[in-house]
Amino acid sequence: MADKLGVKVQDVPPATFGGSNQSVTEPEFARKMLFTVFLGILQVDAATLGISLTNVNLLDMRHHKQRAKFEKFYMAWTNSATDVYINYEMYEQVAKKFPVTGVTNSVRNTQLWFVLALRHELHHVTQFNTSGRPRSYKAMCDFEKGAYAQDVQWLDANRTLLKNAGMEDAIFTAIRSGNDKAARDMDRISRLGTESAIKAAMVRDSNLPPHANIDELYEDQ
Ligand SMILES: [Zn+2]
Repeated sequence: MADKLGVKVQDVPPATFGGSNQSVTEPEFARKMLFTVFLGILQVDAATLGISLTNVNLLDMRHHKQRAKFEKFYMAWTNSATDVYINYEMYEQVAKKFPVTGVTNSVRNTQLWFVLALRHELHHVTQFNTSGRPRSYKAMCDFEKGAYAQDVQWLDANRTLLKNAGMEDAIFTAIRSGNDKAARDMDRISRLGTESAIKAAMVRDSNLPPHANIDELYEDQ
């Protein structure tokens, strides 16, 4: 009778488990499990906040070719009109050492912060779908200016929703002022006139990691 109620694991072809019977090490597997749980949290919070994740692939930043550069800089990175890379390492670090004072629940607020970072990236997905990914630093700054400006508008319209989800006032205020400043910074930098001046300012202000050229950042993975 018990056999009829379930499937015996040994009867399931290996391909069922992720399409591969490649062995992975125990730490790799544990890390994959943690990332999957984190994605689940982001997906639930996105649904609660009315953020659609349709037509976007959420990927682990540890598999991005520029991982070594990106993991120190970004909560998430939009690489194309479909692919967004999530920085799990930064999630752990921020939750552990929360950079905003006056917040009681650092883990919950880090999760919500990441959902907002994801929402910002989804604006880039829309931009890339309409205009393609940025081919110049000026275009990148213009995209960022638009993305940060709409972040501020969305935050103002959804403050109560975020509070009900667990976001504390101190982090809301910090994120809002950070986004507002970033929109103004991007506007200023975008007006510098030459590509080399814009690139230098983006790196100097830690908006971009040191890198060779813009194509390197968006290389196909
Ligand atoms: Zn952005």
